[in-house]
Amino acid sequence: MDAEQLRQYLEFYRDLGVKTLYKQAAPEPSRDPAPSGPAAEPEAAPPLPSLAPANDSLVQISADIGDCRRCRLHEGRTKIVFGVGNERSPLVFVGEGPGADEDAQGIPFVGRAGQLLTQMIEGTAKKEGIDLERDQVYICNVVKCRPPGNRTPEPDEMEICGQFLYRQLSAIRPKAICALGGTAARALTGHKEGVTKMRGRWFQWRDIPVMVTYHPSYLLRPYNQDAKREAWQDLKKLLHFVYD
Ligand code: URA
Repeated sequence: MDAEQLRQYLEFYRDLGVKTLYKQAAPEPSRDPAPSGPAAEPEAAPPLPSLAPANDSLVQISADIGDCRRCRLHEGRTKIVFGVGNERSPLVFVGEGPGADEDAQGIPFVGRAGQLLTQMIEGTAKKEGIDLERDQVYICNVVKCRPPGNRTPEPDEMEICGQFLYRQLSAIRPKAICALGGTAARALTGHKEGVTKMRGRWFQWRDIPVMVTYHPSYLLRPYNQDAKREAWQDLKKLLHFVYD
């Protein structure tokens, strides 16, 4: 890993809210008598986790996730929810984490919130004269396994799973990203404001513009007409930026 890669890596973890990194202590010098055989190899430095490898692909990332047990979320999951859609999409939507329907099917945003997301994408595109269907964009989440009881993912869970989101976004390199809700917005941008302050504004994930809007689950709650109108405005702005 060169200095530039290390800088990017540290920025990524800072954006996820990880403030403290621990340096692995140097191994204690051995007190055993010198071995009489061939000189022992110097101990290899512990490998740093890779950033996005060259020629990365979604297939490779999914294979690397494998039957993941890297964090406690694996304990309650039925299926890993990797992501769905067009690997070459100029637009990626990022949610928080799978719910019950997504956990059962292994596909993001297929429950009620997902149906609303589909309507938001396709309905806004149609109204704006943009020819776009849901399967032409890419959709994924910050964490790939369902948090128990749909709780917010913990920082360490987002940190561990974040390396795969980082690789997905790096492999797709969309023209823009849409952060759905506060958790995705904060994980992608590093900003700590609430979603009501962030929505409708452009931020950045590395050099890629990020539009923040409300999570569709929030829009499903009654009495959220104003938020719905605002979310439609955010999507309009986003779709014109990407597809005009
Ligand atoms: N909520 C999310 O954040 N992601 C999903 O995939 C479904 C619901």
